[in-house]
Amino acid sequence: MKYCSTRAAGDDLRGHKRFCEILLEGLAPDGGLYLPVHYPQVDAATLARWRNVWHGQGYAALAFEVLSLYIDDIPATDLKALCEKTYTRDIFGTPQIVPLTKLEDASTIAAKTILYVEALSNGPTLAFKDLAMQLLGNLFEYELARRGEHLNILGATSGDTGSAAEYAMRGKKGVRVFMTSPLGRMSPFQQAQMFSLMDENIHNIAVDGVFDDCQDMVKAVSSDLDFKRKHRIGTVNSINWARLMAQVVYYFAGYFQATRSNLEKVSFTVPSGNFGNVCAGHIARMMGLPIDTLVVATNENDVLDEFFRSGVYRVRSSADTLETSSPSMDISKASNFERFVFDLLGRDGVRVKALFETTLQQGGRFDLSAAPAFEEAGSKFGFASGKSTHADRLNTIRTTFERFGILIDTHTADALKVAREHQQPGLPMIVLETALPIKFAATIVEALGREPDRPPKFEGIESLPKRVTRMTADAQAIKNYIAQHCR
Ligand SMILES: *Cc1c(COP(=O)(O)O)cnc(C)c1O
Repeated sequence: MKYCSTRAAGDDLRGHKRFCEILLEGLAPDGGLYLPVHYPQVDAATLARWRNVWHGQGYAALAFEVLSLYIDDIPATDLKALCEKTYTRDIFGTPQIVPLTKLEDASTIAAKTILYVEALSNGPTLAFKDLAMQLLGNLFEYELARRGEHLNILGATSGDTGSAAEYAMRGKKGVRVFMTSPLGRMSPFQQAQMFSLMDENIHNIAVDGVFDDCQDMVKAVSSDLDFKRKHRIGTVNSINWARLMAQVVYYFAGYFQATRSNLEKVSFTVPSGNFGNVCAGHIARMMGLPIDTLVVATNENDVLDEFFRSGVYRVRSSADTLETSSPSMDISKASNFERFVFDLLGRDGVRVKALFETTLQQGGRFDLSAAPAFEEAGSKFGFASGKSTHADRLNTIRTTFERFGILIDTHTADALKVAREHQQPGLPMIVLETALPIKFAATIVEALGREPDRPPKFEGIESLPKRVTRMTADAQAIKNYIAQHCR
């Protein structure tokens, strides 16, 4: 399998690089994002076989099947071992890894609506990012050892990404993590999760500033090419292809749990920010998974909902990005969206390049409402969307708890609210749960008047010793720190 950039033209659309060559890279050199040159097709016989793999051998074996279609430069026995090491009950809490729960009461039965929540958040940091990041940690360690190299991962986080990265990379040979976060802006639980890590290869840096200051520091370091090369700086942000690929697996696992036969269809509703999670759903469907509709749910930061309603993609300034109670979806632009646009426009890399490099830079927006694949039968490429507000979240958390006895987090609440607006009788709707409520306890208290349950291993983490360095928002300061702390 070869990979090309979403901004490729002509011969370059056939791709020059294989999986391990793009694994440790961020953007393609032309500024685009990497995608496989085609989506491998899962025919009826393969889907039937995978259903048996799922039931007989479980998640790790299914992951191996999916990943094998995209990775041909790691020997099969090694890839299988990496999958088995990653997707264990120990790390993800249940034998199914991503178990489904049915939400059912008299009124859903009367309306013939079939609603499931797929739990993606039982990993080490209690958010869905663990599912991809844990694999990435093992892939990085494997590939760096094979090359005899090391890598310093530099990142900025406002919560879930940073902790998922640290828990994936802790103790890994050849990898060091430098993670900046805005001082005092994360929830106490999120801070404790990150800052209590004592592993020598993990460096927490609390910046006097906001998230944008952290991102600016990272950008400043990354654009200093000499420094970047000399200190082997890399990233693990949401545009990394391996993360997206790993996420494809749980769409198949959700489908096999919600259906008995491969003639059935399901829909998914996905709480979305950077369009990474739902982009993996798009890829699963392109491979042949029988998905009816992919429903994109946003919070008040509704860049994506606006696009799927109108065809207009209009990025916001960071000043116009609201701080909400589903903070992991507070984005001004959706960094993975370019991949979907590339497919929507029939893989016309020249047009994608013009849209993202020129049109967006000049006017902050572009309009695809006239693109055939968007308009056709109003299908919008099989997507739908909706948005949810703070009041909706409180209401959804409360009613879900009262009706079904299930406590959901704020991001999942956004999705559940929007899912209800798109349900069709007889067609199972799977809502992806992206975090556990304990991570966003303040809003749960606001909705229910009580604290969410805390998994036993997180008892008292706020009072553990902390390992964190405070820093002013200054690119030179972080460069000095990295230079001092890497070989
Ligand atoms: C990252 C995150 C999201 C958004 O996912 P995208 O892939 O960026 O669309 C939603 N919910 C939670 C809890 C997250 O951590």
